[in-house]
Amino acid sequence: MSATAQSTDANAAAGEQDLTDGFHLVIDALKLNGVKTIYGVPGIPITDFGRMAQAAGIRVVSFRHEQHAGNAAAIAGFLTKRPGICLTVSAPGFLNGLTALANATTNCFPMILISGSSEREIVDLAQGDYEEMDQLAIAKPLCKAAFRVLHAADIGIGIARAIRAAVSGRPGGVYLDLPAKLFSQVMNADAGAKSLVKVVDAAPAQIPAPAAVKRALEVLKGAKRPLIILGKGAAYAQADDAIRALVERSGIPFLPMSMAKGLLPDTHPQCAGAARSTVLKDSDVVMLIGARLNWLLSHGKGKTWGAPHSKKFIQIDIEPREMDSNVEIVAPVVGDIGSCVSALVDGMGGNWPAAPADWTGAVKAKREENVAKMAPRLMKNSAPMDFHGALGALRTVIKERPDAILVNEGANTLDLARGVIDMYQPRKRLDVGTWGVMGIGMGFAIAAAIETGKPVLAVEGDSAFGFSGMEVETICRYKLPVCIVVFNNNGIYRGTDVNAAGGSDPATTVFVKDSRYDMMMQAFGGVGVHVTTPDELKRAVDAAMDSGKPTLINAAIDPTAGSESGRIGNLNPQSVVKKK
Ligand code: ADP
Ligand code: MG
Repeated sequence: MSATAQSTDANAAAGEQDLTDGFHLVIDALKLNGVKTIYGVPGIPITDFGRMAQAAGIRVVSFRHEQHAGNAAAIAGFLTKRPGICLTVSAPGFLNGLTALANATTNCFPMILISGSSEREIVDLAQGDYEEMDQLAIAKPLCKAAFRVLHAADIGIGIARAIRAAVSGRPGGVYLDLPAKLFSQVMNADAGAKSLVKVVDAAPAQIPAPAAVKRALEVLKGAKRPLIILGKGAAYAQADDAIRALVERSGIPFLPMSMAKGLLPDTHPQCAGAARSTVLKDSDVVMLIGARLNWLLSHGKGKTWGAPHSKKFIQIDIEPREMDSNVEIVAPVVGDIGSCVSALVDGMGGNWPAAPADWTGAVKAKREENVAKMAPRLMKNSAPMDFHGALGALRTVIKERPDAILVNEGANTLDLARGVIDMYQPRKRLDVGTWGVMGIGMGFAIAAAIETGKPVLAVEGDSAFGFSGMEVETICRYKLPVCIVVFNNNGIYRGTDVNAAGGSDPATTVFVKDSRYDMMMQAFGGVGVHVTTPDELKRAVDAAMDSGKPTLINAAIDPTAGSESGRIGNLNPQSVVKKK
């Protein structure tokens, strides 16, 4: 019997009994599992689903484009350790959400992309359905797991599997395909309720092997120049006290990766953020906690890391296959960061030797030297502003408001802000992550405001902002306490490039000169401010943060300031062939 015949029979048999349907079962399953917010874009076949979810008490936040709804769901996952939910329509909406799903998976953020899809019978025979696409097959290689539910009675199991896949082990993105027909499939209400699953212990603790802990401590004890690198996995784990205990009891300098900044304050005496090159090059034992030796750490080799084979690596990660991915890991500790770090702290006991003073002294000296070098550049109150002057003002804002969330993307705007703006609390810095992807700005800002209730400061390059700029309407519509600062230097990297062919077309990297992004916010009833000096910038941000009103500050940055691709210009291939 075909699935259609089966469900028609079930519908008939249901007769006069109390009935439920796919719509209600999906909503009930999500609510049963504590889902409070759905990020999405309405349309066929999920328009009614969104309405019904809202009526059922779930907060449904409608975006202008699925990519930003997806990014919102992903960062909600990072902030809460629960899968963020993104809801999209079929084919094109699904594809728009896919960038965020892939990005979430790459960054180890738990999210579930739920997409409506077209009729299986027609799609599989390629008969040309409305928005026909084999979405499950397309999603599969781009996420951690992908599931499709065909029968209403399987909705509970489908959602349970999606939740477990997203948050257990190494977190990631999950795709859940719900064909249009499923939503209106009817079944007995009692049986439906019984088919739902409340997921128990979705992300079970993964306790490290005692031998692995002992091995790691032995390597650490033998170190002359030890270093701890904290990654965003450590921030995600919410094991803040255990991590602080490990760092402070060992006395070892620590280097936070971008989104791990604030796990311990950047002003902590052991923070080696301002001595990054020195500690990477000169350390002899490096303990990675929730950080991968990918391109962001030069793969653990090359001149960044000093003489070849001069280091021993200890790595704490929940994913066993991460070990030896780039260089040899002499002491792998596999487990969740909370359990692993606690076991290490226990193993250190009461009389763990202090980190060698010549090393910690050298790191401290280097840090102070670099901080002193940077200081005068941050105080420059010129018009137009350069990046450092403007960032100096924002640095003070975060110092005075350490519980605000900083969202950051761009090229120079990103690379310089990462170094200049100190963070004081965990999970307050959200940025472009593992891919260095542009376009996360407004999605992250919206979810950060919704999930935490804290004020959000989004520091955006003018180009980066453009990828998600239309979502300022969403920010105004939901009246979110988001203050966006657009670092407007008239273009990508800088605003002064010229078209080498002459002619009237602008260069490929420049935008309309002296644009007024602030007026975009005014168009939707928010506050727009145009500023030209760091003092004005600071005043405008303070006013925005005090009022909690959606605000966009157009910060005029010197168009000649900024370097190609910010700090990663070396990744940009350059032609060496001169054409006559
Ligand atoms: P960063 O870019 O900050 O260095 P990465 O995203 O490269 O961070 O690395 C994060 C690492 O953290 C991943 O290898 C991931 O498997 C790991 N991870 C994520 N959550 C946990 C957790 N709860 N326990 C242990 N490891 C985790
Ligand atoms: Mg720019």
